[in-house]
Amino acid sequence: MSSRGYEAVIGIEIHVQLSTKSKMFCADSTAFNGGDNENVSPVSAGMPGTLPVVNKVAVEYAIKTGLALGCNIRKKSIFARKNYFYPDMPKGYQISQYDQPICEGGRVSFKVDGKEKVVGITRAHLEEDAGKSNHHGEYTLINLNRAGIPLLEVVSEPDIRTPAEAAEYGRTIRQIVRYLDVCDGNLEEGSLRCDCNVSVRKEGAEKFGTKVEIKNINSFRFVEKAIEYEIERQIDAVERGEKIIQETRLWDPDKNRTFSMRTKEDAQDYRYFPDPDLLPLLVSDKMIEDIRRVMPELPLVRAKRFQDEHGLPEYDASVLTNEKQIADYYEEVAKESKNFKASSNWIMTELIRELNTANKEITDSPIKAQQLGRLVSLIDNGTISGKIAKTVFQEMWQSGKDAEVIIKEKGLVQITDPAAIEKIVDEVLAANAQNVEDHKSGKKKNLLGFFVGAVMKASKGQANPDLVNKILLEKLK
Ligand code: ADP
Ligand code: MG
Repeated sequence: MSSRGYEAVIGIEIHVQLSTKSKMFCADSTAFNGGDNENVSPVSAGMPGTLPVVNKVAVEYAIKTGLALGCNIRKKSIFARKNYFYPDMPKGYQISQYDQPICEGGRVSFKVDGKEKVVGITRAHLEEDAGKSNHHGEYTLINLNRAGIPLLEVVSEPDIRTPAEAAEYGRTIRQIVRYLDVCDGNLEEGSLRCDCNVSVRKEGAEKFGTKVEIKNINSFRFVEKAIEYEIERQIDAVERGEKIIQETRLWDPDKNRTFSMRTKEDAQDYRYFPDPDLLPLLVSDKMIEDIRRVMPELPLVRAKRFQDEHGLPEYDASVLTNEKQIADYYEEVAKESKNFKASSNWIMTELIRELNTANKEITDSPIKAQQLGRLVSLIDNGTISGKIAKTVFQEMWQSGKDAEVIIKEKGLVQITDPAAIEKIVDEVLAANAQNVEDHKSGKKKNLLGFFVGAVMKASKGQANPDLVNKILLEKLK
């Protein structure tokens, strides 16, 4: 896509906060809601003389993510000191990885407007988070609870070309880390932080333009908007003959624009060097293979299986695999009901609507997967009609009771006895003599639907619709 004869080039860095219990280099808790500076030992506070010790689970999570992104996992990676001053980083450097990161060279694919897009992953490296500065007008307080929480920084190649691709790339990374259960993906709490690097070049030009980094955008919708704005801003500047300066900008969601925060340091300004406190990180083949063996099925593969093995349409497969918990739920419903498409329909329409209205996760659904599966079976075996099933579903949602119990309590079993249905049909026809006449004489066509509706209503929705149709057709001949 081009805009005003220019093409955008975008690369994204995503800080994935790993959901380990303890920090990257010490045993302090990573809990989000701790009291101020509650989770701070001398290591988190960066006291001189303390020694960092690597968190094994964080390393496992990094490997897991690297494998899911198709990266090469380095057998030997190096922790480096990235030196800079910031009040919320008292030791004056951040422990990160530099020229030998744990994961290198992967790719992710996703769809944008129905077209497959592949984005290269340059690297994913382990590092520690900084603390937080809380500004109170004239003074600032430092909270170091976040200092030392493990982050995996996933760096993309500059392969992204449009704001929509950028947002979808972010959603895909979020989906993957949530499937892997290595990060909760909560953007508002900062568990995922996106930095977008944007430059523009004349269409057809080979050389990249100077990039600008937009930092810490906390929703994918804002990723899209911020990049849209930035592309136009840069094109305007280039058209005016100005030079783009390499800088870091922030997104202002209220004013819908980006603004300059600082000019950007180059790598040499950080004076990276291997951290002498930490040995090289060695990962064995066995460790990698052990992790590979317990990797969950990833969204795209799972969606493909739902299409190939369950015969679901692409749309259903994609909605159901959007979140691992929904896909798990669907598989349980389908296993119980043995009706794939009907299971999918009930989840995608009724269940997801109720969950959204109640603002609930599927794992908190009052209707458990097996219960929904049995409801689907009860329709398939003719115990209740699809229409009655909706009423039963509502009752299940309210009470959490089994469908069978509700059907019994309320006497909702479908009427499949032809004699009983004939009786209702006769009553309806008798009460609508004029319409019967009009139908038979051909004066009014298409009254069949009217009669079906009237009979269904008279039976409180319990008559079997096929039988109602059949009997009506005979009587109206
Ligand atoms: P820095 O050293 O400034 O952090 P990197 O080379 O590490 O820069 O790249 C950071 C991110 O910027 C990567 O995601 C990369 O794909 C992207 N990037 C690099 N050059 C450009 C460019 N000219 N335009 C847009 N994005 C770019
Ligand atoms: Mg970088």
